[in-house]
Amino acid sequence: KDAYRLSVTPQGAHLTSGGREGRLYGQATLRQLQDQLAAQPEGIPCGVIKDKPRYPWRGLMVDPARHFIPLADLKKFADLMAYYKFNKLHLHLTDNQGWRLPVPGYPRLESVASKRAETFGDGIPHGGMYTREELKELVAYCADRGIEVIPEIDVPGHNEALAAAYPEFFCFPKPDMKVRTVAGNSKELVCPQKPEVWKFYAAVFKELKDIFPSKIVHLGGDEAPTELWEKCPLCRQARAGAGMKDEQEQMRDFFARMTSLLAKNGQTPQFWYEGNAGIYHPGETVYAWRQDQARQSIDKTKKAGLNLIMASNEYCYLDFPQIQGQYNWGWMRTTTLRKCYELDPAFGKSPQETGHVRGVHAAAWAEHLPDLNHLLYRVYPRAMAIAEAGW
Ligand SMILES: [Zn+2]
Repeated sequence: KDAYRLSVTPQGAHLTSGGREGRLYGQATLRQLQDQLAAQPEGIPCGVIKDKPRYPWRGLMVDPARHFIPLADLKKFADLMAYYKFNKLHLHLTDNQGWRLPVPGYPRLESVASKRAETFGDGIPHGGMYTREELKELVAYCADRGIEVIPEIDVPGHNEALAAAYPEFFCFPKPDMKVRTVAGNSKELVCPQKPEVWKFYAAVFKELKDIFPSKIVHLGGDEAPTELWEKCPLCRQARAGAGMKDEQEQMRDFFARMTSLLAKNGQTPQFWYEGNAGIYHPGETVYAWRQDQARQSIDKTKKAGLNLIMASNEYCYLDFPQIQGQYNWGWMRTTTLRKCYELDPAFGKSPQETGHVRGVHAAAWAEHLPDLNHLLYRVYPRAMAIAEAGW
């Protein structure tokens, strides 16, 4: 469906395709050729292009949780994605620094979790919340361009904004918790032993189902230190009662329960891969993101029966500086355009070893990307290399 053949002769251009996606990609190629006309005034060269993507998954993640991205800007972002034949727009809707999805019955998401007092001490309040109608409009806009929108609700950690609004969802409620104003993470995890937590996520997933035709829900699952689960009396009791030997088993159980909850709506989860294949379940899809672990992740996920999307941060984190000397906040690795072009999602391994690799995914974490100009400045041109790596 996503293959096309573009033939250009002195009489004109002719496009055939295996399906709707292929037609969109062929049109994108034609647009790219036309955009080069200024450099080649004689016109588009005659020739035949037979083309199709190497992988079915070619995604970009944006992070409106850290800095809210208005709908009009998301549409501009999607226009560029379509131009470079990306087909998955991933919205990181929740994190410590903000919650951007309204959920009926939970008004404090908007009044508390969607706002923070300032950003890195700038003294300027920041906030934003999409409406259900805006998200539906984005979904339709992207669908017209061959792009599926994937929502992410990060669990059980990365949840200080949620904790500020609903502290009772957490193992040790802190009524004075505030939405985080700087980068970084905390130890707060939602408590799997509280019925109100499951009631809340049932409402969240129902809302996602009504907005996003994609049946995929990215559940995050990353950077969740289990110290508070270890100490929580309810969690301790549950582990003892179920014969779980440690908090990693509790994590596996938590993911399984989340997956069952999604399944009621016909939805399936994805996760950021934490290297411990044992906490996921065969058939699930995970993203390799941790630095320099991609190659070993390919083997470990294959053995565990998981699908893998390549998002290894040394190639795919596009908020990282792209030239030496560009500011790196003291820790980000410089990721040059050349480095991005070196990405092979299969890392040179055979098709037999990499049949479970579904594609590529680049992420633009937005702690330091306050608006669309900053976002595009960091994402491009490197996203073009990631798009090619997936094609
Ligand atoms: Zn607990």
